[in-house]
Formats: sequence, structure tokens, C-alpha cells
Amino acid sequence: MKTKMVMAIALLALVAATIRAQAPAGTTEHVTVIRAGALIDGTGAGPRKNQLIFVRGNRIEKVADASAPIPPDGAVIDLSSATVLPGLIDSHTHIFLWGEDPAKGGYDENILKAGIALRAARATFACRRALEQGFTTLRDLETEGAGYGDIEIKQAIEEGTIPGPRIFGATRAISTTGGYNLEGYAPELEMPKGAQLVDGPVEARKAARQQLEHGADWIKVYMTHRSWVDKEGKLVSQPTLTVEELKAVVDETHGWGKKVACHAYNGIGLQRALDGGCDSIEHGLEITDAQIAQMARQGTWYCPTISPYYGDWAPADTPGGKRDRARAAVHEVSFKKALNAHLKIVFGTDMGGMPWTESIAQEFKRMVGLGMTPMDAIESATSRAADMLDMRGEIGVVAPGAFADIAAVTGDPLKDVSVLEHVRFVMKDGAVFKNELAK
Ligand SMILES: [Zn+2]
Repeated sequence: MKTKMVMAIALLALVAATIRAQAPAGTTEHVTVIRAGALIDGTGAGPRKNQLIFVRGNRIEKVADASAPIPPDGAVIDLSSATVLPGLIDSHTHIFLWGEDPAKGGYDENILKAGIALRAARATFACRRALEQGFTTLRDLETEGAGYGDIEIKQAIEEGTIPGPRIFGATRAISTTGGYNLEGYAPELEMPKGAQLVDGPVEARKAARQQLEHGADWIKVYMTHRSWVDKEGKLVSQPTLTVEELKAVVDETHGWGKKVACHAYNGIGLQRALDGGCDSIEHGLEITDAQIAQMARQGTWYCPTISPYYGDWAPADTPGGKRDRARAAVHEVSFKKALNAHLKIVFGTDMGGMPWTESIAQEFKRMVGLGMTPMDAIESATSRAADMLDMRGEIGVVAPGAFADIAAVTGDPLKDVSVLEHVRFVMKDGAVFKNELAK
């Protein structure tokens, strides 16, 4: 008995020693110091010249002037010729979507002919693309028929199997009967759908519960589906969920401490999204003044996605071509209204709707082109997006205590925001993923 006790105590001591040896961030890990020529810290504060960013483990320990002493065993990364920023956040992507890429067969082929392994491989590519462009966080707003694949890709990233950004995944998304693709097939065929379709508040709540159970970080709801131009030339969108159905989703999701993102172009569906208490309006192509006021009152986030509506227009004289032009035209007006009303605008691209081979940061030019200041556009992709994700102080800032997610560009993005399309250095979670500036 006594020997057993002694052995147990010895074992405990050994375990304690082992725990100490592996120990915690902030004590034993060597410091890495990034020498920043200029630092835009993501908070909206003006740029600071010649800063040192001390990174220990996966966190930023401190930020200091260049005169601060560097510990003798500290590794220095020289970005003195660059502008350093927090890792960027795209708040509206689809890593599983290649549907709009004709080279990959279009939306329907993506679901009908690409098996889950091929889709996962493409999602892996999408994640690498995001990271190499300095996007260290994505809010990925549904998998387009790939089930809970986003949560598994996130797991593969977190365990270090594949490189990629931090992912806030929405899993399957929710719409109604007649409210999502695939469609247009013979009515007797049971076609797979790109979202989980529900009818009635009970089914709506159940779908939210299922998605939350399987790891959804956000719930995505399609509040509008088809859109077209009416006789007066106005954009019209078919609404999907009723207010009661959406309220069931929102109530359930909020109970889990999570939020609801609503795809809503305009009209009845957008109004129901606001009346149902959604947390973020996605796209919001056409928002009335009253709806802008309601968003301000309710604190609703606005995630416009301008770039995708400027490519691939159908010919001008076709119904599709008229719709494409109307969508871009009204989106500009709504974006400017939202800007004037100081709505909480976050950066989103709908990547996946655009091929992942394209530049994510092209959206900055669109936002600035419509009157946003470059600093405001940067905040929309850093600290403001972090607020929406309930990650204030953790991501989207270069500040003590934040995760060491860092990007750098040559040139001044406040003078020319398009330099953000050429990110030259990327650190995520304290590890350098890319450095084209190394001497
Ligand atoms: Zn989308």
C-alpha cells in the first residue's frame, strides 16, 4: 500500500514536471519580433511608423516603438519596407462553391457530378488561396450541398493537416420549398438541394437545431431566392421564409449564443429578414430608407458583396441581362445609403460565386470606389468584422493579447487600396505562412 502511494506521488510529480516543460504560452516560447515599416493596427487609428510587434506562441505580446530592446534569443522578421496590418477577414465566402466557374461545370454539375472528395479537395484549395492573400479568417456562409464539410475542413485546419484561415462555418443553410437550387428538372425527380429546405416554424427550428448540433458557428438563411425585373424595370425578388419561420430560427440560434445571417436582395424578403430579427443582411442589393433606419435601430450588420455583381452579365437585351444590370445599379445606391447612415458594414465577397482563382481583395476597390475611405474599408475587413464574429480583441487587430494573425503589403493602402490585392507576408496563429519580403 505504502509503495503504491509513493509511486503514485512520484508519478504525479513526473506529470507535473512534464506539464511545466510543455508549458504555456507566454513563458517558455521564444519571441519573434516583426519590424514594421508602418503599422495599421485595424482599430481605425492612424498608421504608426517603425513599430515592433512581439509575438510569443500564437499571440501578440506587445507592440512598441522601434527603439524597444529585442531579447537576444528573439528572431527578427524584417518588414521595415512594408505596411503591416492585421490578418484580413472575409465575412461572406463559400469554400465549397465553384458553381459559377464554367471550367468546373457550373452550379448544378458541382452538386450532381463532383463527389465529396473532389469537393473537399477544391475547398482545401480555396482555403489556401484565402490564406496566401492575407485572409486569415473567413465567415463561410454555407456549403452548397456539401453538408457539414465546412466544419470538417475547419477541423483539418485547426489540427494542422492543411493550411487555411480560421473558419466560422454556417454548414447547410436554410430555405423553403421552391426557394433553392437544384431546380428546373422533371417534377417527378427528387433532386438534391443546395440548402436545407423547410416549411413551417417547427421544421425551421428543427433545421437550426440540427445544424447547430453539427457545429454550425452561424446559421445562414435565404430570405429571397429568384430575382427578375418587372414591367417598370424594377428589381423584384421572390421571398422565402415567413417572419414566423425566421423567428423560430433566430430564437433557437440566439439561445445557443450564435447569430443568423440572412441572404436578402430586397423587397418583401428583406423586410421579413429585419422583422424576424436577423443579425446580418447579406448582399442587401436594394434597401429602402425605412429599412436602413430599421437596420440602424436594430444594430443589424450589413455585408454587401459588390464585386460578383459586376462580372458575367448576360446580354443587355435579355431578361437575365436586364436583371444583372439592375442588381449592380441598385446595389451601388444601397451601399452609399448604408455608408451615409453609418450602418455597420463588413467586408464580404461571395468568393465561390466568383472563382477562387480571382483576387479576394478586389472588393476593397469597389467599396472605396463607392465612397468608403480606405481606412473604413480596412476596418470592415478587420476589427469591425471581428466584432460581428464576437472576436473583438482576438482577431482583426494588431494589439497585445490578440492572435498573431498578420499580413503585410508594400506601399500604402491608405493612398492606394489596391495594394491589398498583393499581400506579401502572412502570419497566422504565430506561424509564418508566406514571406516574399525576406531579405
Ligand atoms: Zn453567398
